[in-house]
Amino acid sequence: MRILVVEDDDTIARRIERALAASGYIVERASDGEEAWFKGDTEDYDAIILDLGLPRMDGLQVLKRWREGGCHCPVLILTARGSWKERVEGMDAGADDYLPKPFQIEELKARLRALLRRSAGHSQPVLEVGPVTVDTRQMLVSVDGIAVDLSPLEYRLISYLVHNKGRVVSQHELTEHIYAQDFERDSNAIEVLVARVRKKLGADVIKTRRGFGYIVPEDRPDDAGEPERAKDH
Ligand code: CA
Repeated sequence: MRILVVEDDDTIARRIERALAASGYIVERASDGEEAWFKGDTEDYDAIILDLGLPRMDGLQVLKRWREGGCHCPVLILTARGSWKERVEGMDAGADDYLPKPFQIEELKARLRALLRRSAGHSQPVLEVGPVTVDTRQMLVSVDGIAVDLSPLEYRLISYLVHNKGRVVSQHELTEHIYAQDFERDSNAIEVLVARVRKKLGADVIKTRRGFGYIVPEDRPDDAGEPERAKDH
């Protein structure tokens, strides 16, 4: 998951960056409103954390311009404590959630997880696909209830695909959302990574759509609950 953190205060920004990176997110930062607007407008993020008090263009203006430009990325705004007016304006401008400053980093992480789930159409913190469960709070993946040991990169891959369950995700998109730096990116690396994750979670969990990318299907075709067609005819 690729997150943009927009915050002009270096101390707060670094605190957020460290905490999110430790939770397996790819974090990018913008420290003024214009840089933030440009990044949000041109790059593809899974969520954006946006401080409202920013130099060069205030956060509210940035948010309005993103929305006008067709950016639907989930946005969590950081507001001044007690400023109900700022919160109302922020929500009206298209924010999906808000957090008053100062905040506990754990609350920020919980709100971000909820935002990412909701934007992917899930209401629970534990996502399930067939025998595979992804616990987004603990970054834990299990198969048939048994925890599987995954590297941070393997976790990012399966977590991204499960959040986007039922949709074909291209290699390019995967690369953008699970690797931190450009130099790490290599499409062969994705194939190798997918093969490794299949080995650990089962060959059927991630399907290849040749020429298009990868998909974690909504329902596994060999699910026990699959109706037997022969019965009715
Ligand atoms: Ca600020």
